[in-house]
Amino acid sequence: MSRLFKVVNTINAAFRRQRKRPKSRASRAADALLTMILMAYLIVLWFPQIVFARSVSYRNFQVYSVAPLDPNIITVLDKTERRLDACEINEPQAVHRVFVCPSHAAFRFFSPFQPEAFAANLPFRHNIFINTADVVGDVVTNGAKQHNRRSLNSVIAHECTHTLLADRFGQIGILGRSSWKQEGYCDWVSGQTSFEPVDGERMLEEGRSDSSPSFFYFRSCTAVNYLKNREHWSISQIMDTSLTLDDVLAKALHSARSSDEGDRLAPNAL
Ligand SMILES: [Zn+2]
Repeated sequence: MSRLFKVVNTINAAFRRQRKRPKSRASRAADALLTMILMAYLIVLWFPQIVFARSVSYRNFQVYSVAPLDPNIITVLDKTERRLDACEINEPQAVHRVFVCPSHAAFRFFSPFQPEAFAANLPFRHNIFINTADVVGDVVTNGAKQHNRRSLNSVIAHECTHTLLADRFGQIGILGRSSWKQEGYCDWVSGQTSFEPVDGERMLEEGRSDSSPSFFYFRSCTAVNYLKNREHWSISQIMDTSLTLDDVLAKALHSARSSDEGDRLAPNAL
């Protein structure tokens, strides 16, 4: 502990010295420039309409893009809406802002901490950024080497569910919940994960693992599927449970093995 105090004192002393030393004009200019760049970045994150000039408004979705969107976006949004209709915390009057990025590089700009995600939902503001999408084919790709495709309609449903969870439990409250509960529920509503369900089920049954984020999402979705469809839990029960992801998956495995009805582990829709 005394060593920790020494380190903290050393850092404190360094900061005090730094504060006392007068800054050069060049250094102050560099600080001001950095602050301006950061402010400009935050403004674009908050109001991406500045760069996504095209938009389509349909029901409770506002979809923005750089180039005109194919009319098939309406079919995609209809499918998204049907998925959200089955969500117990859906708010049909809530407006969802969706920004379709034109490339993986553009998506990385808006989601620098999760560059290979299929989409990102900006906390508090709830701007939804979609990685590269083929609206005609209803497909989103994330640029990863594997587990790199999902349907656009399900990805939008997943991200809208993040927004609905934040509305229901509060942004701070939801950030404090285990990520398997959030991601599992969002994927369960979306009816899809990027992991091949037959492979995932086999791996869970054989006790094998996979370090990819895709497998984590598959495990989370399978756990929520068990709690929803077998235990008939509400979303509040899921969010408040002290059970871990491993606990729930063990129960799901036991239930599937002892079922006379040949219950599947993964959601039927997958
Ligand atoms: Zn998510």
